[in-house]
Amino acid sequence: MIIGIPRESRAGETRVAATPETVKKLAASGKHSIVVETGAGMSASFPDAEFEAAGARLASADEAFGADIVLKVRGPTAAELPKLKRGAMLIGLLNPYDAAAVQACAATGVSGYALEWLPRITRAQSMDVLSSQANIAGYKAVIIAADTYGRFMPMLMTAAGTVKAARVLVLGVGVAGLQAIATAKRLGAVIEASDVRPSVKDQVESLGAKWVDVPYANDEERKIAEGVGGYARPMPPEWMARQGEIIHERCKSVDILITTALIPGRPAPKLIRAQTVAAMKPGAVIIDLAAEQGGNVEGAELDKIVAKDGVKIVGYSNLAAQLASDASALYARNVLNFLALSLNVKSGDFAVPKDDEIIKATLVCDNAAVVPRS
Ligand code: NAD
Repeated sequence: MIIGIPRESRAGETRVAATPETVKKLAASGKHSIVVETGAGMSASFPDAEFEAAGARLASADEAFGADIVLKVRGPTAAELPKLKRGAMLIGLLNPYDAAAVQACAATGVSGYALEWLPRITRAQSMDVLSSQANIAGYKAVIIAADTYGRFMPMLMTAAGTVKAARVLVLGVGVAGLQAIATAKRLGAVIEASDVRPSVKDQVESLGAKWVDVPYANDEERKIAEGVGGYARPMPPEWMARQGEIIHERCKSVDILITTALIPGRPAPKLIRAQTVAAMKPGAVIIDLAAEQGGNVEGAELDKIVAKDGVKIVGYSNLAAQLASDASALYARNVLNFLALSLNVKSGDFAVPKDDEIIKATLVCDNAAVVPRS
């Protein structure tokens, strides 16, 4: 079989779905040809020659998309869809919440596997692209914040006097939020964090940050807050209002605010209103990691830094792509682990285990039809 790795063409997408390391493993059995589009790894610092040395053949986009198994980071664009071969296996971040995108994929006749829908079970952890990329985004959010903030992060005692440590607040403590806390801690900041899910408190405290508690008024609120499958659910407006008041007060003394709150398949919850931004200290920086899903912060603009009331709000999307090399290395290993459910990399034997829980959860289109989500 032919395994194709096209170059990503979406604006700002620097990652690649396979690296020389994973290509070498895919090619090891000698039974399959690996076809990498020329220049596919360039923006992630993987030159063509390294792919060739790992056993790949360089080819055109048409050839890479026309393979039996196509490995992608992002879903194909309208111009790329016709290049896909009927019956091929397509693996990537196919944006399964976008019904039109899934329909368009289905129309090509490919079997599409959307990695966003990997179940959060132990066996799938090595394939979990959302976690590997969110981890990078959390790290990069702090680096951007430190760069945008006009003061030091750590406390310094110098001959010219003492510099206070920056106060950082992290809202939404999933994978990205935890990494943001860990990174800000390494830079010497004083950190507080909050989340809707009660189970997060211990993780926050174990990283040396202070937990900001938003109390539940009743058992129903607590039940909703526990979320489902590791993910949050939308909270009732009363809880959101209570959270808004508590966070408003905290924000008055915060230098850097990092928001990462997401609810799968829905617009990001609005956690920070304009009046809270206005109450923040001049020079404060907000990094809204949810900007692509509508933003956690009122006034955040996608892929821009906006200044409001002396506060800078950064709404960059796809922060993982700014660490293209490591992001690709981790993503490519996730993809290889997912493909290994069907492909024995040692023997080269290939059979998709259609009844496997992971395969069933991620299959979004098959036989030219959209697969309904169970
Ligand atoms: P996510 O990206 O969907 O959301 C980010 C965070 O925002 C979450 O912690 C969520 O609770 C929080 N949030 C949502 N609405 C909020 C609100 N109104 N106010 C405050 N916070 C809000 O989440 P994620 O990073 O994908 O991870 C969610 C959880 O899943 C984590 O605990 C993670 O450790 C766990 N996880 C488990 C596995 C596994 O078991 N295989 C794999 C990956 C992640």
